[in-house]
Amino acid sequence: MDPESFRRHGHALIDWIADYHAGLGDRPVQPPTHPGDVRALLPSAPPQEGEPFEACLADIDAIVAPHLTHWQHPRFFGFFPGNALLAGVLGDMASTGLGVLGLSWQSSPALSEVEEVTVDWFRQMVGLSDGWRGVINDTASTSTLVALMCARERSTAFSLARGGMQGEERRHIVYASAGSHSSVEKGALLAGYGRENIRNVPLDERQGMRADVLRSLVEADIAAGHVPSAIVACVGGTATASFDPIADCAGIAREHGLWLHVDAAMAGAAMILPECRWMWEGVEGADSLVINAHKWIGVPFDCSLYYVRDEEHLVRVMSTNPSFLQSPVDGEVRNLRDLGIPLGRRFRALKLWFVIREQGVAGLMARLRRDLANAKRFAAVVETTPDWRVLAPVDLQTVCLRHQPAGLTGEALDRHTRAWADAVNRSGEAYLTPATLDGRWMVRVSIGALGTEWPDIEALWATMRRCAAEDMAEALG
Ligand code: PLP
Repeated sequence: MDPESFRRHGHALIDWIADYHAGLGDRPVQPPTHPGDVRALLPSAPPQEGEPFEACLADIDAIVAPHLTHWQHPRFFGFFPGNALLAGVLGDMASTGLGVLGLSWQSSPALSEVEEVTVDWFRQMVGLSDGWRGVINDTASTSTLVALMCARERSTAFSLARGGMQGEERRHIVYASAGSHSSVEKGALLAGYGRENIRNVPLDERQGMRADVLRSLVEADIAAGHVPSAIVACVGGTATASFDPIADCAGIAREHGLWLHVDAAMAGAAMILPECRWMWEGVEGADSLVINAHKWIGVPFDCSLYYVRDEEHLVRVMSTNPSFLQSPVDGEVRNLRDLGIPLGRRFRALKLWFVIREQGVAGLMARLRRDLANAKRFAAVVETTPDWRVLAPVDLQTVCLRHQPAGLTGEALDRHTRAWADAVNRSGEAYLTPATLDGRWMVRVSIGALGTEWPDIEALWATMRRCAAEDMAEALG
């Protein structure tokens, strides 16, 4: 494709994306797709000769869009928001269009310095002190893995230099709340801690980690001759958007020399609002922190911001310096490869930069405040409706609920919850996520898609009540 053809097809694609976003409300949120449907529409072997590019664009309409769950839909209430502001979409296109790689500062100076500055803008936006330095990773899973590798290297006094964890005589322990995201356990296992060295700290009635139990576990491990290595605390837990007591965790970490990593993948976005910062009070006492700009804020996936207090330690754990990557300015610059796992780095900062500039901090704050107010309003409606229950505090934008008519308990209640939630999703009218809480099924309504206004929530509510009533009628025969 030459640049002139690219211009023509590119304009067509931009038109397609604009139409897609403008018309999202008319599509079913979840498609009626069955496993294998899309595969059946694709040739099983690649074309030998090139096709006209128009055929690729046509297949976005024919094969791709009809078989997607639409995360940008105004009635998408699933998981957590995965917003894609259009300024960020353009940033991503610019990044791909430039086709540069940040292997070293010299390999793409603007890539390195725009990233450094925009990540620092975001630090200021969420009210963190200037003792934090940040870098962009792909996902929170990667950021948490990096944090746990840094924790391991601190508590083992650089086991990497001795060939790895397997030589350690004592057990190094990670503590995380029983409600922590699956990426925490995965990160701990990948960092080499071993399943027997991961402690799940029980939760209090607000679904936050119990600091008194954390302290007892740490002290018991010390008494048993183990080495408490890291605490992973969460702000905006996946099930109910709950938060762990960061200040208490920081106190215990400081006292016993543990690494404290804060997983604010989702709720970090809310910290641009001063009125939400009580949720991570004590965060300045942490060693590392992750905030996904690719969730509620609206930078298109992927863009995970990872901050550390001790950048030198991170560099010591992560740096590589083969001859072909060395340059005459190395002493004067940050080489971002030294701050994470991959060598190659996309120009992800462009989409973060475009989003912050196009929206302004005030624009981002206004949208998040809209969502917080909608969540509280919706929770009040649910709570005052007979047979419906809100199950957890609504401090953020997630409302956890159940339809629980009198007499319906145990497995029958679980069956009903899953049945009506599935019916909502199959209807295509709205999309939400069932999950378990204290061993029983419930439904999470995660508010915060870019286009979600109060009438969309009213529409969801009508669909929920209809599906729940239909399932009850069917169950009663
Ligand atoms: N931590 C929390 C609290 C999350 O909610 C999520 C995803 O929703 C993650 C971590 C993992 O995020 P990622 O997909 O960026 O790895």
